[in-house]
Amino acid sequence: NMEFADRVGRVEPSATLAISNLSSELEAEGIDIVDLSVGEPDFPTPQNIIEAGKDAMDAGHTGYTSSNGILELREALAEKLTDQGVDANSDEIIVTPGGKQGLYEAINTLIDDGDEVVLLDPAWVSYEAMVKLAGGSLNRVDLSPYGFQLEPGLDDLAEAVSDETELVIVNSPSNPTGAVYSDEALEGVRDLAVEHDFAVISDEIYERITYGVEPTSLGSLDGMEDRTITLNGFSKAFSMTGWRLGYIHAPQDLIDEASKLHSHSVSCAVNFVQHAGLEALSERTDDSVDEMREAFRERRDMLSDLFAEHDVDVPVGDGAFYMMIPVDDDDQAWCEGAIQEAHVATVPGSAFGAPGYARISYAASEERLREAVDRLVEHGYL
Ligand code: PLP
Repeated sequence: NMEFADRVGRVEPSATLAISNLSSELEAEGIDIVDLSVGEPDFPTPQNIIEAGKDAMDAGHTGYTSSNGILELREALAEKLTDQGVDANSDEIIVTPGGKQGLYEAINTLIDDGDEVVLLDPAWVSYEAMVKLAGGSLNRVDLSPYGFQLEPGLDDLAEAVSDETELVIVNSPSNPTGAVYSDEALEGVRDLAVEHDFAVISDEIYERITYGVEPTSLGSLDGMEDRTITLNGFSKAFSMTGWRLGYIHAPQDLIDEASKLHSHSVSCAVNFVQHAGLEALSERTDDSVDEMREAFRERRDMLSDLFAEHDVDVPVGDGAFYMMIPVDDDDQAWCEGAIQEAHVATVPGSAFGAPGYARISYAASEERLREAVDRLVEHGYL
């Protein structure tokens, strides 16, 4: 009998798994499921990016690259970050196979056994798992009472943090709420970070998907330059989830340490994918990004109208493509019932530290979204 490491025993398989298993079983029976549980854009990758990936393969970009990523891409990313007010150069960036790997490297570079990490709930599921894998201890601040906004919850955050706090993870626009935090909220985080000398991971992966607001990069605020890890990626902005491409930017000393984890685990991100990423960043992709954003915005508005018609009070965020809808206290049972009876797949809020809610993704056509609401109403779930 093999004995497994404590670290894997500390984490649970993802709570979304139960839902997707159920979903597959029902689909195998020939039942039509409206799947609003997925966290990926429902658009093809823009064609210019696909062509650039193919061209890069044809041009022979199929070997290892330098571990932290090809210089052209790191330079383009440094320029983009600098445009956002984050003082960045190409040496302070690691290009990773997906933003998730960047997060994993950052957390494992910063967190030792017992180190305190603060999450703002509801929070994306993988933060908790990664902190636990690293041996860190979680301290969670619930923003549910504040319509998921951070600004009104700043006092709660101030209560929660102390000189013991090692790291706070901020995700704006947020998965699962869609909330985009105000500048005042981010400045509040900055003030606490300076006071208690903690680091902040700013997960900005939904930065290009916002509606009428310009998200501020936390690392651009005075006092944050030496304590911010900016995490971003190509999955959501350019509908490139399967390509696996992301990056982290951080102070040079952190990047030098994280590079060890990176080179000894993944070696480098896929060569031709990095070349495709370079094309994605060019202005040739802007129209596609605008079209996707516009489609998301229309769906969001349509859904919030539908929920209002049915007197469901849903806090509507200004970014990403998710909403948290209030459901029964037992959100796991609600989600299982919703899929079994109404044939609509959603994710229980408790997976994100927000029991009593279900997350829906509106990365689906307007027709399917309407169908989902109709079915939920018809079966008494709304
Ligand atoms: N951060 C957040 C908040 C996400 O929702 C996701 C994907 O679901 C990621 C990071 C990581 O995405 P990827 O690894 O595809 O870049």
